Amino acid sequence: MVELLQSLASRLTTKLPSNLDSLGQLALNFWWSWTPEGVAIFRDIDVSAWEQCQHNPIQFLSMSEEKLAQLATQPAYLERLRSVAAKFDSYMQSSHSTWAKQTAPEITPQQPVAYFSVEFGLHQTLHIYAGGLGILAGDHLKSASDLGLPMVGVGLLYRQGYFQQQLDASGWQQETYPEQDLETLPLELVRDSSGEPLKIKVTMCDRSVTVQAWRVRVGRVNLYLLDTGLEDNQKRDRQITNRLYQANDNVRIAQEMVLGIGGVRLLQHLGLDPKIYHLNESNAAFTLLEVARQLVHRGEPFERVKTVVQQRCVFTTHTPVLAGHQTFSIDLMTEYFANYWQQLGLTKDQFLALGASEQQDTEEKFSMTALALRLSKAANGVSQLNGGVNRQMWSPLYPQEIEPAPIGAITNGVHAGTWTAPSISELYAQYLDKDWTKRMSDRHLWENVNNIPDAEIWQRHQQLKEDLIAHVRTWVKQTRQRRGEDPQAIEECDRLFDPNVLTIGLARRFSSYKRGDLIFREPQRALQILSNSAQPVQIIFAGKAHPADDKSKQIIQNLIEWTRRPELHQRIIFLEDYDILIAKKLVQGVDLWLNTPLRPQEASGTSGQKVCFNGGINCSILDGWWREAYQQGADSKGVNGWAIGEDCSLDDSEAQAQKDAESLYDLLTREIVPLFYDRTSPELPDRWIAMMKASIKTAIPRFNTDRMVMEYVHQMYLSTANNAAPI
Ligand SMILES: *Cc1c(COP(=O)(O)O)cnc(C)c1O
Repeated sequence: MVELLQSLASRLTTKLPSNLDSLGQLALNFWWSWTPEGVAIFRDIDVSAWEQCQHNPIQFLSMSEEKLAQLATQPAYLERLRSVAAKFDSYMQSSHSTWAKQTAPEITPQQPVAYFSVEFGLHQTLHIYAGGLGILAGDHLKSASDLGLPMVGVGLLYRQGYFQQQLDASGWQQETYPEQDLETLPLELVRDSSGEPLKIKVTMCDRSVTVQAWRVRVGRVNLYLLDTGLEDNQKRDRQITNRLYQANDNVRIAQEMVLGIGGVRLLQHLGLDPKIYHLNESNAAFTLLEVARQLVHRGEPFERVKTVVQQRCVFTTHTPVLAGHQTFSIDLMTEYFANYWQQLGLTKDQFLALGASEQQDTEEKFSMTALALRLSKAANGVSQLNGGVNRQMWSPLYPQEIEPAPIGAITNGVHAGTWTAPSISELYAQYLDKDWTKRMSDRHLWENVNNIPDAEIWQRHQQLKEDLIAHVRTWVKQTRQRRGEDPQAIEECDRLFDPNVLTIGLARRFSSYKRGDLIFREPQRALQILSNSAQPVQIIFAGKAHPADDKSKQIIQNLIEWTRRPELHQRIIFLEDYDILIAKKLVQGVDLWLNTPLRPQEASGTSGQKVCFNGGINCSILDGWWREAYQQGADSKGVNGWAIGEDCSLDDSEAQAQKDAESLYDLLTREIVPLFYDRTSPELPDRWIAMMKASIKTAIPRFNTDRMVMEYVHQMYLSTANNAAPI
């Protein structure tokens, strides 16, 4: 830590006054980002500079020299800082009394759970995520830290991230790839015992690629990010870890080798002997091969090794469509692994058989999911429905088993501290329990939400909505200025949106199955709802399409056309470059969250869960998590939100879309809009607020990552876990 602080000090352009040293310490651990006092201790120094640097404390400390000099002389601020620093120290040191220490003593700092993922969404300033898979991984690490579960994360440091999204004048997505400024990120280069940067070699084809690693502190958990961007490598190898989710399979296979093979070697160098390797999605599955190779190297035959690997590895699968499961061609596998299979004691055919899958075998492919299923002791989908779909889909892999395949289900959640607005968290602290985040899964606790006065929860919600709208105005203005739109359009931004209007949010990765424009399927009906001036509706869209996915870019372009229809008076807007910051503002500020995927393709979905933590209400297809959360009353109306369509699917996706769109229009016109505008007293929508409370009460105790990580511990990580038998 001392070394890290020195390295931080050398990076800051200003020197921190010595009595503000602990600000530097806080800046180097993402703990601050999910602790309201941690955020406030930075933000309150200079709110506008804080916004300007996207809440990046390292950059911020460099920008705020004068303010810092002033603060160093203010006893009140110093006292606050001392108290936050003490809270941080006590969090870091309380590992002996945690849930995990009592429940899972076999998982120790030397024998932790190693969590492998190609993306991690921890904070908007660290661009190593694309969407839900990464947010899930980030929230998983944060809850593991809160629960005191010894865990290390392993991922990749993408120097250019995923991509930055801008839309051109025609609404077509443009991608740019700015380099991340590593100096302003809380990254610490991992060094060996002699103080030199630790270097790991991974052989690919006939090349030896050098990999270094960066440490990121996530509370008590360390995340290691592997990086090939060093001088030792040829240019093409330096670029392996440049960008997330490139279309080129040569790059992907190389990335996945760095992650899986390099990651296992890194942990070994660090002296860690993971009790469990947890693969978040199959693109981390080469991990299994390297765990096996190291055992074979010690002289065990592969067949015996296989059993040992299975005992130590667990696998989470997300994709409910066969085509979405990653494969590599046999040629590519042969090219990249020619040096590897002998080291496993296998012939080429035996090696390739590890990735064989009848279902995906259209033209001789190596299936990463088949590999992961074969070498793991347990696998799970991320919602009950998703687990079931995967169980069906992969049953042919298990000829001896009675169908279906042994794939369980652990439904995703979200991390409370990260996603709950501080003002709402305060309400829970006041009316439920000061330490509500430690008792989240206690359903009785949530009954007390009824004690929160309607006026109070509504007033805080309105405040968050106003804050969202203020941000929307700034963001849209920046976009219009960049595009050089006419001065009137730019000036209008200051009046965009009305905090008294029903505000709907829809934000997620754009991908055809998510059907982000379903609400516009019947233009006339959509217009009727959206142009109603007596009971108006406004909608905020955001989301990126994969650079190679033109179909989804067309969906975005279609949305942009809608934002420009004059009869809608700018009640629809699209925010560019969806990220964690935009997500936070949206889930904390909207009234209603809309989700319209083609069932059963939404593995779980988590953004709707974030909305519940803040008292927002969901209107969604009965897919993923919402199918488990949605509750219906005796009148068959929703108690805690609304369900679009039914708990079943048609085979014809067009017919399904038509049916779903009609269901959505009915809900909006007959229930949602009237309920929002039904005011018994002039200001308060009583029945709407009752539904907000139902949303909070029914969702939070279940759809949080503390509950989720606890389920992983009991069902997957512990040696006593009652897993399904591996193949
Ligand atoms: C939560 C989140 C997601 C995932 O949302 P889904 O509902 O699963 O689509 C994606 N991107 C960002 C930035 C998020 O915060």
